[in-house]
Amino acid sequence: MGRYTGPVCRQCRREGKKLHLKGVRCETAKCPLERQWRNFPPGMHSWRRRRKASSYGIRLREKQKVKRYYGVLERQFMVYFRMAERARANTGDALITVLERRLDNVICKLGFAPSRRAARQVIGHGHVHVNGRKVDRPGFLVSVGDRISARPTERSQKFVRANLGEGGPAVQPWLQLDAGQLEGRVLALPTPEDAQVPAVQTQLIIEMCSR
Ligand code: SF4
Repeated sequence: MGRYTGPVCRQCRREGKKLHLKGVRCETAKCPLERQWRNFPPGMHSWRRRRKASSYGIRLREKQKVKRYYGVLERQFMVYFRMAERARANTGDALITVLERRLDNVICKLGFAPSRRAARQVIGHGHVHVNGRKVDRPGFLVSVGDRISARPTERSQKFVRANLGEGGPAVQPWLQLDAGQLEGRVLALPTPEDAQVPAVQTQLIIEMCSR
């Protein structure tokens, strides 16, 4: 499946929001959005005054923000949107829920990797098991009751433990982490409140994708 391979911080600069794509670096003063001289949109003439965004442009930015935050491209995003449309819940809430269920997001939230991008690599290299079986697809959707663990080899366990650090992070209420066993469990489906996407208006995304 395709993935974005260009400059990472450029995506945050385009959206004008911190999307936290680089793990710990995002919390430091090295983040371009923390620096006055770098906090402007990318591009050669970005310092010029831009025209007022059209209604299409406003909706496009909301969609791009969510796609970039979760690291999905257009085609996969539309698959998730169609799934959300078929759900009984509000389409916007269902969309965020299905994106939160992605395995790379769960691995990141359990602390097995410092960012979603790093989580994709951890999964792609086969360091992760779901319910005791290797899963190497970052887009795998977890379900309630699933057990996510580090592969029981010395190399994988050492790698995941190094990312986890002492005791592991404080995980969200829909997840449970056993840092000793390097295992997480999905207790419930995530809600939009559990997602930490910066200030996204899902209604605008629905309006854009429903055309
Ligand atoms: Fe780069 Fe992270 Fe800052 Fe985004 S939040 S601009 S990824 S350092």
